[in-house]
Amino acid sequence: MSETEIISTIDGIHDYVRKLRSSGKTIALVPTMGYLHEGHISLVKRGSDLCDSVIVSDFVNPSQFAPEEDFSTYPRDFDRDRKLLEENGVAAIFHPSKDEMYPQGCQTFVEVTEITKKLEGQFRPIHFRGVTTVVSMLFNAVRPDVALFGRKDAQQAAVIKKMVRDLHYDIRVEICPIVREADGLAKSSRNIYLTPKERGEALILRKSLLEAKELVLKGESNTCVIVDFVRAKVGTLAAAKMDYVSIVEEESFEDAGRIEPYRNYYLLIACKIGPVRLIDNCILRVE
Ligand code: AMP
Repeated sequence: MSETEIISTIDGIHDYVRKLRSSGKTIALVPTMGYLHEGHISLVKRGSDLCDSVIVSDFVNPSQFAPEEDFSTYPRDFDRDRKLLEENGVAAIFHPSKDEMYPQGCQTFVEVTEITKKLEGQFRPIHFRGVTTVVSMLFNAVRPDVALFGRKDAQQAAVIKKMVRDLHYDIRVEICPIVREADGLAKSSRNIYLTPKERGEALILRKSLLEAKELVLKGESNTCVIVDFVRAKVGTLAAAKMDYVSIVEEESFEDAGRIEPYRNYYLLIACKIGPVRLIDNCILRVE
């Protein structure tokens, strides 16, 4: 296995990518904020199935955090990330500084205007603008054939797909399944903030999603009933502070009134358990 390159500058990543391209290699990009877990590694593995070389970006992006959010305390451990990525045969890690990505005087943003307004966008108003800006920078830096994202952040994935269509990026966007802990909690870098008690309570998210899925399979198609069911279930937990529960059409992210057969919908939930904000989702479908 050849060594994993660590690259921290835009010029460096341009040179590296030029060399890969001139040797005929296809490139997969996995954008991350580091503190990696098996969810991230599943994207790396899928990337190496699809392309010759995988590049992972490891950068906690300041522009997607509001001032009161957890940018400064977001977990970071680059040495651990590097080892994990080396073990998984990653060709290069792009690990720039904040100043490299956002030099003094930087004043350009990329914004998807509509599907960013609801759900995550309602509770984190500048979040998606930061995400699309940094992903756009990464696309320009790496010019990947394929970019991989997790279904865990389903709205983010839909926003990126929209940006790629609207800006005519010649990049295939691949959305990968949610990787979970053995007990069902969706893996997340932020899970380390949970106390053991909150860690147990957090299972209510997955449980309520699974029970809602059952309800739909038993014939319930009214999305208000399903949403109310999830709200009530999570509401039984005193520590839970709900941001939203919603059912939307999978691709457009438009609100769904009924579950129609043979169509995919997302049931999405965002909720604080103690100080930790968690998100989860599942697909609803009946045939
Ligand atoms: P993050 O480092 O949290 O910004 O995540 C980087 C990428 O990994 C995003 O595309 C996430 O959706 C994806 N990801 C995070 N957690 C998971 C998970 N549990 N399963 C699958 N993908 C994930």
